Amino acid sequence: MDGYMINSAETEAAIKEAAAHYEELLRQQVARQTRMEQGSSAKDFSSMDKIVIGVIGGDGIGPKITAQAARVLGKLLADEIASGRVELRNIEGLTIENRLACGKPIPDDVMEEIKACDVLLKGPTTTPNGGTMESANVAMRKALDLYANVRPVCIPAEGIDWTFFRENTEGEYALGSSGIEIPGKLTMDFKVTTLCGTRRIARAAFEYAKNNGKTSVSIVTKANIMKKTDGMFSAICHEVAKDYPGIEADEYYIDIMTANLVKTGTRSKFQVFVLPNLYGDIITDEAAQIQGGVGTAGSANIGDQYAMFEAIHGSAPRMLETGRGDYANPASIIKAAEMLLRHIAMADKADRLAAALEACTQTEKRVVITGGPDGATAEEFADYLMEKL
Ligand code: NAD
Repeated sequence: MDGYMINSAETEAAIKEAAAHYEELLRQQVARQTRMEQGSSAKDFSSMDKIVIGVIGGDGIGPKITAQAARVLGKLLADEIASGRVELRNIEGLTIENRLACGKPIPDDVMEEIKACDVLLKGPTTTPNGGTMESANVAMRKALDLYANVRPVCIPAEGIDWTFFRENTEGEYALGSSGIEIPGKLTMDFKVTTLCGTRRIARAAFEYAKNNGKTSVSIVTKANIMKKTDGMFSAICHEVAKDYPGIEADEYYIDIMTANLVKTGTRSKFQVFVLPNLYGDIITDEAAQIQGGVGTAGSANIGDQYAMFEAIHGSAPRMLETGRGDYANPASIIKAAEMLLRHIAMADKADRLAAALEACTQTEKRVVITGGPDGATAEEFADYLMEKL
Protein backbone atom coordinates (compact mmCIF):
# COMPACT_ATOMS: atom_id res chain seq x y z
CA MET A 1 0.00 0.00 0.00
CA ASP A 2 2.98 2.31 0.72
CA GLY A 3 3.97 2.20 -2.94
CA TYR A 4 0.60 3.56 -3.95
CA MET A 5 0.73 6.34 -1.41
CA ILE A 6 4.02 7.85 -2.60
CA ASN A 7 2.73 8.16 -6.16
CA SER A 8 1.51 11.49 -7.48
CA ALA A 9 -1.96 11.82 -8.95
CA GLU A 10 -0.42 11.89 -12.48
CA THR A 11 1.44 8.65 -11.85
CA GLU A 12 -1.72 7.03 -10.48
CA ALA A 13 -3.58 8.08 -13.62
CA ALA A 14 -0.78 6.71 -15.84
CA ILE A 15 -0.84 3.36 -13.97
CA LYS A 16 -4.61 3.08 -14.46
CA GLU A 17 -4.29 3.91 -18.17
CA ALA A 18 -1.44 1.37 -18.55
CA ALA A 19 -3.49 -1.34 -16.81
CA ALA A 20 -6.38 -0.78 -19.24
CA HIS A 21 -3.93 -0.83 -22.16
CA TYR A 22 -2.46 -4.11 -20.83
CA GLU A 23 -5.90 -5.68 -20.61
CA GLU A 24 -6.53 -4.71 -24.24
CA LEU A 25 -3.20 -6.28 -25.31
CA LEU A 26 -4.07 -9.50 -23.50
CA ARG A 27 -7.44 -9.66 -25.26
CA GLN A 28 -5.79 -9.08 -28.68
CA GLN A 29 -3.22 -11.81 -28.08
CA VAL A 30 -5.77 -14.33 -26.83
CA ALA A 31 -7.84 -13.57 -29.95
CA ARG A 32 -4.76 -14.17 -32.12
CA GLN A 33 -4.13 -17.53 -30.43
CA THR A 34 -7.82 -18.44 -30.93
CA ARG A 35 -7.54 -17.61 -34.67
CA MET A 36 -4.46 -19.84 -34.90
CA GLU A 37 -6.37 -22.67 -33.24
CA GLN A 38 -8.63 -22.71 -36.31
CA GLY A 39 -5.55 -23.55 -38.42
CA SER A 40 -4.91 -23.29 -42.18
CA SER A 41 -3.14 -25.40 -44.79
CA ALA A 42 -0.13 -24.49 -46.92
CA LYS A 43 -0.32 -23.71 -50.67
CA ASP A 44 0.80 -26.41 -53.08
CA PHE A 45 2.79 -24.45 -55.66
CA SER A 46 3.43 -27.43 -57.93
CA SER A 47 -0.28 -27.61 -58.76
CA MET A 48 -0.93 -23.88 -59.18
CA ASP A 49 -1.75 -22.55 -62.69
CA LYS A 50 -0.35 -19.13 -61.92
CA ILE A 51 2.18 -17.87 -59.40
CA VAL A 52 2.50 -14.13 -58.77
CA ILE A 53 5.87 -13.01 -57.43
CA GLY A 54 5.69 -9.48 -56.00
CA VAL A 55 8.96 -7.51 -56.14
CA ILE A 56 9.28 -4.76 -53.53
CA GLY A 57 12.31 -2.43 -53.73
CA GLY A 58 12.16 -1.01 -50.19
CA ASP A 59 14.47 1.77 -48.97
CA GLY A 60 18.11 2.83 -49.27
CA ILE A 61 20.07 0.33 -51.34
CA GLY A 62 16.94 -1.88 -51.52
CA PRO A 63 15.65 -0.84 -54.96
CA LYS A 64 19.14 -1.16 -56.47
CA ILE A 65 19.88 -4.68 -55.27
CA THR A 66 16.29 -5.90 -55.67
CA ALA A 67 16.28 -4.81 -59.32
CA GLN A 68 19.31 -7.04 -59.93
CA ALA A 69 17.71 -10.02 -58.18
CA ALA A 70 14.57 -9.47 -60.29
CA ARG A 71 16.71 -9.51 -63.47
CA VAL A 72 18.17 -12.84 -62.38
CA LEU A 73 14.70 -14.26 -61.67
CA GLY A 74 13.50 -12.89 -65.02
CA LYS A 75 16.20 -14.85 -66.80
CA LEU A 76 15.66 -18.09 -64.87
CA LEU A 77 11.88 -17.91 -65.24
CA ALA A 78 11.80 -16.59 -68.82
CA ASP A 79 9.76 -19.55 -70.16
CA GLU A 80 7.27 -19.52 -67.30
CA ILE A 81 6.83 -15.75 -67.61
CA ALA A 82 6.30 -16.06 -71.38
CA SER A 83 3.67 -18.78 -70.88
CA GLY A 84 1.89 -16.78 -68.17
CA ARG A 85 2.47 -19.36 -65.39
CA VAL A 86 4.62 -16.90 -63.48
CA GLU A 87 4.24 -13.14 -63.20
CA LEU A 88 6.94 -10.89 -61.75
CA ARG A 89 4.96 -7.93 -60.44
CA ASN A 90 6.62 -4.71 -59.26
CA ILE A 91 5.08 -3.23 -56.11
CA GLU A 92 5.89 0.44 -55.57
CA GLY A 93 5.31 2.56 -52.53
CA LEU A 94 6.76 0.60 -49.60
CA THR A 95 9.12 3.50 -48.88
CA ILE A 96 9.88 5.21 -45.59
CA GLU A 97 8.61 8.52 -47.05
CA ASN A 98 5.23 6.97 -47.86
CA ARG A 99 5.01 5.14 -44.57
CA LEU A 100 5.71 8.29 -42.55
CA ALA A 101 3.27 10.32 -44.68
CA CYS A 102 0.37 7.93 -44.07
CA GLY A 103 1.44 6.98 -40.53
CA LYS A 104 1.28 3.24 -41.26
CA PRO A 105 4.09 0.69 -41.49
CA ILE A 106 2.50 -0.58 -44.71
CA PRO A 107 0.17 1.82 -46.59
CA ASP A 108 -3.27 0.28 -47.27
CA ASP A 109 -2.94 0.35 -51.09
CA VAL A 110 0.47 -1.34 -50.88
CA MET A 111 -0.92 -3.98 -48.52
CA GLU A 112 -3.70 -4.72 -51.02
CA GLU A 113 -1.16 -5.26 -53.80
CA ILE A 114 0.97 -7.43 -51.52
CA LYS A 115 -2.00 -9.63 -50.66
CA ALA A 116 -2.72 -10.17 -54.36
CA CYS A 117 0.67 -11.95 -54.72
CA ASP A 118 1.64 -15.47 -53.68
CA VAL A 119 5.26 -14.83 -52.76
CA LEU A 120 7.35 -11.69 -52.35
CA LEU A 121 10.95 -10.71 -52.95
CA LYS A 122 11.53 -7.72 -50.71
CA GLY A 123 14.36 -5.21 -50.41
CA PRO A 124 15.32 -3.97 -46.93
CA THR A 125 13.15 -1.28 -45.38
CA THR A 126 14.26 1.48 -43.02
CA THR A 127 12.80 1.66 -39.52
CA PRO A 128 13.13 4.97 -37.68
CA ASN A 129 14.56 4.74 -34.15
CA GLY A 130 12.13 5.71 -31.39
CA GLY A 131 8.59 6.91 -32.02
CA THR A 132 5.80 4.39 -32.43
CA MET A 133 6.15 3.57 -36.14
CA GLU A 134 6.32 -0.22 -36.39
CA SER A 135 8.89 -1.80 -38.72
CA ALA A 136 7.43 -2.66 -42.15
CA ASN A 137 8.92 -6.12 -41.76
CA VAL A 138 7.31 -6.81 -38.42
CA ALA A 139 3.98 -5.49 -39.78
CA MET A 140 4.25 -7.72 -42.86
CA ARG A 141 5.10 -10.80 -40.80
CA LYS A 142 2.04 -10.17 -38.66
CA ALA A 143 -0.36 -9.25 -41.49
CA LEU A 144 0.62 -12.23 -43.68
CA ASP A 145 1.22 -14.51 -40.69
CA LEU A 146 4.76 -15.34 -41.81
CA TYR A 147 5.56 -17.37 -38.75
CA ALA A 148 8.77 -19.15 -39.74
CA ASN A 149 11.93 -17.23 -40.47
CA VAL A 150 14.22 -19.78 -42.07
CA ARG A 151 17.89 -18.96 -42.51
CA PRO A 152 20.40 -21.47 -43.84
CA VAL A 153 24.13 -21.07 -43.18
CA CYS A 154 26.54 -23.38 -44.95
CA ILE A 155 30.35 -23.59 -44.80
CA PRO A 156 31.24 -26.87 -46.57
CA ALA A 157 34.98 -26.58 -45.79
CA GLU A 158 34.17 -26.70 -42.06
CA GLY A 159 31.36 -29.23 -42.27
CA ILE A 160 28.86 -26.55 -41.19
CA ASP A 161 25.32 -26.95 -42.48
CA TRP A 162 22.98 -25.07 -40.17
CA THR A 163 19.33 -24.19 -40.66
CA PHE A 164 17.74 -21.76 -38.22
CA PHE A 165 13.99 -21.73 -37.59
CA ARG A 166 13.32 -18.44 -35.87
CA GLU A 167 9.76 -17.85 -34.63
CA ASN A 168 8.80 -14.73 -36.51
CA THR A 169 5.58 -13.29 -35.12
CA GLU A 170 5.79 -13.45 -31.33
CA GLY A 171 8.24 -12.88 -28.48
CA GLU A 172 9.33 -9.28 -28.00
CA TYR A 173 8.26 -8.37 -31.55
CA ALA A 174 4.51 -8.98 -31.26
CA LEU A 175 4.09 -6.06 -28.87
CA GLY A 176 7.34 -4.17 -29.42
CA SER A 177 5.54 -0.94 -30.33
CA SER A 178 2.87 -1.37 -27.63
CA GLY A 179 4.90 -0.87 -24.46
CA ILE A 180 3.93 1.17 -21.44
CA GLU A 181 5.41 4.37 -20.10
CA ILE A 182 4.81 5.84 -16.69
CA PRO A 183 6.19 9.33 -17.32
CA GLY A 184 9.21 10.24 -15.22
CA LYS A 185 9.26 6.74 -13.67
CA LEU A 186 9.65 3.78 -16.00
CA THR A 187 9.00 2.10 -19.33
CA MET A 188 7.91 -1.50 -19.85
CA ASP A 189 7.72 -3.72 -22.94
CA PHE A 190 6.03 -7.11 -23.29
CA LYS A 191 6.98 -10.53 -24.58
CA VAL A 192 4.35 -13.05 -25.66
CA THR A 193 4.53 -16.78 -26.44
CA THR A 194 1.42 -18.64 -27.57
CA LEU A 195 0.75 -22.33 -27.64
CA CYS A 196 -0.13 -22.52 -31.35
CA GLY A 197 2.60 -20.06 -32.34
CA THR A 198 5.25 -22.23 -30.71
CA ARG A 199 3.80 -25.52 -31.85
CA ARG A 200 3.82 -24.51 -35.54
CA ILE A 201 7.45 -23.26 -35.54
CA ALA A 202 8.56 -26.39 -33.66
CA ARG A 203 6.66 -28.54 -36.15
CA ALA A 204 8.30 -26.67 -39.09
CA ALA A 205 11.79 -27.26 -37.66
CA PHE A 206 11.24 -30.97 -36.94
CA GLU A 207 9.52 -31.56 -40.30
CA TYR A 208 12.47 -29.92 -42.04
CA ALA A 209 14.87 -32.14 -40.06
CA LYS A 210 12.88 -35.27 -40.93
CA ASN A 211 12.63 -34.40 -44.65
CA ASN A 212 16.29 -33.48 -44.98
CA GLY A 213 17.97 -36.38 -43.20
CA LYS A 214 18.93 -34.37 -40.12
CA THR A 215 19.31 -36.15 -36.79
CA SER A 216 19.19 -33.32 -34.28
CA VAL A 217 17.24 -30.16 -33.51
CA SER A 218 18.65 -27.71 -30.95
CA ILE A 219 16.07 -25.81 -28.94
CA VAL A 220 17.54 -22.47 -27.84
CA THR A 221 15.91 -20.36 -25.11
CA LYS A 222 16.63 -18.50 -21.90
CA ALA A 223 14.04 -20.52 -20.00
CA ASN A 224 16.01 -20.24 -16.75
CA ILE A 225 15.23 -16.51 -16.68
CA MET A 226 12.17 -15.99 -18.92
CA LYS A 227 10.31 -18.70 -17.08
CA LYS A 228 6.80 -18.30 -18.48
CA THR A 229 7.43 -17.45 -22.15
CA ASP A 230 10.64 -19.37 -22.87
CA GLY A 231 9.58 -22.05 -20.41
CA MET A 232 6.50 -22.74 -22.52
CA PHE A 233 8.49 -22.51 -25.77
CA SER A 234 10.88 -25.18 -24.47
CA ALA A 235 8.13 -27.46 -23.15
CA ILE A 236 6.16 -27.37 -26.42
CA CYS A 237 9.26 -28.02 -28.55
CA HIS A 238 9.98 -31.12 -26.45
CA GLU A 239 6.36 -32.21 -26.75
CA VAL A 240 6.52 -31.88 -30.58
CA ALA A 241 9.88 -33.72 -30.59
CA LYS A 242 8.11 -36.86 -29.31
CA ASP A 243 6.48 -37.21 -32.76
CA TYR A 244 9.95 -37.46 -34.38
CA PRO A 245 11.62 -40.50 -32.81
CA GLY A 246 14.73 -40.50 -35.05
CA ILE A 247 15.60 -36.92 -34.21
CA GLU A 248 17.35 -35.93 -31.02
CA ALA A 249 16.07 -32.74 -29.35
CA ASP A 250 18.78 -31.04 -27.34
CA GLU A 251 18.45 -27.78 -25.45
CA TYR A 252 20.77 -24.83 -24.87
CA TYR A 253 20.50 -21.37 -23.37
CA ILE A 254 21.04 -18.57 -25.86
CA ASP A 255 24.16 -17.24 -24.12
CA ILE A 256 26.10 -20.51 -24.36
CA MET A 257 24.80 -21.17 -27.88
CA THR A 258 26.16 -17.78 -28.96
CA ALA A 259 29.56 -18.92 -27.64
CA ASN A 260 29.24 -22.39 -29.19
CA LEU A 261 28.79 -20.95 -32.67
CA VAL A 262 32.26 -19.40 -32.56
CA LYS A 263 33.84 -22.54 -31.10
CA THR A 264 35.46 -24.43 -33.95
CA GLY A 265 35.26 -28.17 -33.43
CA THR A 266 31.99 -27.91 -31.49
CA ARG A 267 29.93 -25.86 -33.89
CA SER A 268 29.84 -28.28 -36.81
CA LYS A 269 27.76 -30.77 -34.76
CA PHE A 270 24.71 -28.49 -34.80
CA GLN A 271 22.18 -29.05 -37.58
CA VAL A 272 18.76 -27.46 -37.08
CA PHE A 273 17.92 -24.75 -34.54
CA VAL A 274 14.54 -23.63 -33.28
CA LEU A 275 14.39 -20.36 -31.38
CA PRO A 276 12.06 -17.62 -30.17
CA ASN A 277 12.07 -14.40 -32.20
CA LEU A 278 14.68 -12.13 -30.58
CA TYR A 279 17.34 -14.81 -29.98
CA GLY A 280 16.83 -15.99 -33.56
CA ASP A 281 17.25 -12.45 -34.88
CA ILE A 282 20.58 -12.00 -33.11
CA ILE A 283 22.13 -15.41 -33.56
CA THR A 284 21.37 -15.65 -37.28
CA ASP A 285 23.38 -12.49 -37.94
CA GLU A 286 26.23 -14.05 -35.96
CA ALA A 287 25.92 -17.22 -38.04
CA ALA A 288 25.83 -15.25 -41.30
CA GLN A 289 28.97 -13.42 -40.23
CA ILE A 290 30.71 -16.77 -39.62
CA GLN A 291 29.71 -17.74 -43.15
CA GLY A 292 31.35 -14.64 -44.61
CA GLY A 293 29.17 -11.65 -43.80
CA VAL A 294 25.55 -10.62 -43.76
CA GLY A 295 25.80 -10.08 -47.53
CA THR A 296 26.11 -13.83 -48.04
CA ALA A 297 22.87 -15.01 -46.44
CA GLY A 298 19.25 -14.94 -47.53
CA SER A 299 16.21 -15.16 -45.36
CA ALA A 300 12.80 -16.74 -45.88
CA ASN A 301 9.68 -15.67 -44.00
CA ILE A 302 7.16 -18.42 -44.47
CA GLY A 303 3.49 -18.74 -43.64
CA ASP A 304 0.77 -21.02 -44.94
CA GLN A 305 -0.69 -18.52 -47.45
CA TYR A 306 2.21 -16.18 -48.20
CA ALA A 307 5.99 -16.21 -48.10
CA MET A 308 8.45 -13.32 -48.24
CA PHE A 309 12.13 -13.61 -49.14
CA GLU A 310 14.72 -10.97 -48.37
CA ALA A 311 18.36 -10.17 -47.73
CA ILE A 312 19.37 -10.36 -44.10
CA HIS A 313 21.08 -6.96 -44.05
CA GLY A 314 19.34 -3.59 -43.77
CA SER A 315 18.86 -0.64 -46.13
CA ALA A 316 22.40 0.74 -45.59
CA PRO A 317 21.28 4.39 -45.88
CA ARG A 318 24.84 5.66 -45.50
CA MET A 319 25.87 3.93 -48.72
CA LEU A 320 23.36 6.09 -50.58
CA GLU A 321 24.31 9.25 -48.69
CA THR A 322 27.95 8.74 -49.65
CA GLY A 323 27.16 7.99 -53.29
CA ARG A 324 27.99 4.27 -53.03
CA GLY A 325 24.48 2.91 -53.62
CA ASP A 326 25.34 1.35 -56.99
CA TYR A 327 28.15 -0.62 -55.32
CA ALA A 328 25.87 -2.40 -52.83
CA ASN A 329 26.25 -6.17 -52.82
CA PRO A 330 23.17 -7.92 -54.28
CA ALA A 331 24.38 -11.44 -53.28
CA SER A 332 22.19 -11.70 -50.18
CA ILE A 333 18.95 -10.80 -51.95
CA ILE A 334 19.90 -13.07 -54.86
CA LYS A 335 20.38 -15.85 -52.28
CA ALA A 336 16.86 -15.00 -51.08
CA ALA A 337 15.64 -15.36 -54.69
CA GLU A 338 17.16 -18.86 -54.70
CA MET A 339 15.15 -19.71 -51.56
CA LEU A 340 12.03 -18.29 -53.22
CA LEU A 341 12.49 -20.60 -56.22
CA ARG A 342 12.83 -23.59 -53.90
CA HIS A 343 9.67 -22.56 -52.05
CA ILE A 344 7.59 -22.38 -55.24
CA ALA A 345 8.66 -25.93 -56.18
CA MET A 346 11.28 -24.91 -58.77
CA ALA A 347 14.24 -26.65 -57.15
CA ASP A 348 16.05 -27.23 -60.47
CA LYS A 349 16.20 -23.48 -61.12
CA ALA A 350 17.19 -22.85 -57.50
CA ASP A 351 20.06 -25.35 -57.89
CA ARG A 352 21.27 -23.54 -61.04
CA LEU A 353 21.22 -20.25 -59.19
CA ALA A 354 22.99 -21.74 -56.16
CA ALA A 355 25.76 -23.15 -58.36
CA ALA A 356 26.22 -19.79 -60.14
CA LEU A 357 26.29 -17.92 -56.80
CA GLU A 358 28.85 -20.34 -55.42
CA ALA A 359 31.09 -19.83 -58.47
CA CYS A 360 30.76 -16.03 -58.35
CA THR A 361 31.24 -15.60 -54.60
CA GLN A 362 33.37 -18.59 -53.51
CA THR A 363 35.37 -20.31 -56.21
CA GLU A 364 35.90 -18.20 -59.34
CA LYS A 365 35.26 -14.69 -57.93
CA ARG A 366 36.12 -12.89 -61.21
CA VAL A 367 33.94 -9.89 -60.30
CA VAL A 368 34.38 -8.69 -56.73
CA ILE A 369 32.11 -6.34 -54.77
CA THR A 370 33.79 -4.18 -52.15
CA GLY A 371 30.93 -1.76 -51.39
CA GLY A 372 32.78 1.11 -53.11
CA PRO A 373 34.14 2.30 -56.48
CA ASP A 374 37.23 0.09 -56.13
CA GLY A 375 34.89 -2.88 -56.67
CA ALA A 376 32.14 -3.89 -59.09
CA THR A 377 28.62 -2.46 -59.13
CA ALA A 378 25.58 -4.54 -58.23
CA GLU A 379 24.64 -4.55 -61.93
CA GLU A 380 28.09 -5.78 -63.01
CA PHE A 381 27.90 -8.57 -60.42
CA ALA A 382 24.44 -9.59 -61.69
CA ASP A 383 25.72 -9.59 -65.31
CA TYR A 384 28.54 -11.90 -64.25
CA LEU A 385 26.15 -14.17 -62.35
CA MET A 386 23.74 -14.38 -65.29
CA GLU A 387 26.61 -15.45 -67.56
CA LYS A 388 27.17 -18.35 -65.16
CA LEU A 389 23.55 -19.53 -65.03
P1 NAD B 1 22.61 -2.42 -42.44
O1 NAD B 1 22.60 -3.89 -42.70
O2 NAD B 1 21.79 -1.57 -43.32
O3 NAD B 1 24.12 -1.90 -42.50
C1 NAD B 1 25.17 -2.44 -41.70
C2 NAD B 1 26.52 -2.28 -42.42
O4 NAD B 1 26.58 -3.20 -43.51
C3 NAD B 1 26.72 -0.88 -43.04
O5 NAD B 1 28.08 -0.55 -42.97
C4 NAD B 1 26.31 -1.08 -44.48
O6 NAD B 1 26.94 -0.17 -45.36
C5 NAD B 1 26.76 -2.53 -44.75
N1 NAD B 1 25.91 -3.20 -45.74
C6 NAD B 1 24.65 -3.65 -45.54
N2 NAD B 1 24.19 -4.22 -46.67
C7 NAD B 1 25.16 -4.12 -47.58
C8 NAD B 1 25.25 -4.53 -48.95
N3 NAD B 1 24.27 -5.16 -49.60
N4 NAD B 1 26.39 -4.25 -49.63
C9 NAD B 1 27.41 -3.64 -49.01
N5 NAD B 1 27.39 -3.21 -47.71
C10 NAD B 1 26.26 -3.47 -47.01
O7 NAD B 1 22.20 -2.24 -40.90
P2 NAD B 1 21.79 -0.96 -40.07
O8 NAD B 1 22.69 0.18 -40.44
O9 NAD B 1 21.75 -1.43 -38.69
O10 NAD B 1 20.31 -0.62 -40.52
C11 NAD B 1 19.95 0.36 -41.49
C12 NAD B 1 18.45 0.36 -41.64
O11 NAD B 1 18.01 -0.90 -42.18
C13 NAD B 1 17.68 0.56 -40.33
O12 NAD B 1 16.63 1.46 -40.55
C14 NAD B 1 17.16 -0.82 -40.00
O13 NAD B 1 15.95 -0.77 -39.28
C15 NAD B 1 16.93 -1.39 -41.39
N6 NAD B 1 16.95 -2.88 -41.45
C16 NAD B 1 16.04 -3.47 -42.24
C17 NAD B 1 16.04 -4.84 -42.35
C18 NAD B 1 15.00 -5.48 -43.25
O14 NAD B 1 14.26 -4.80 -43.93
N7 NAD B 1 14.95 -6.79 -43.31
C19 NAD B 1 16.98 -5.62 -41.68
C20 NAD B 1 17.93 -4.97 -40.89
C21 NAD B 1 17.90 -3.58 -40.77
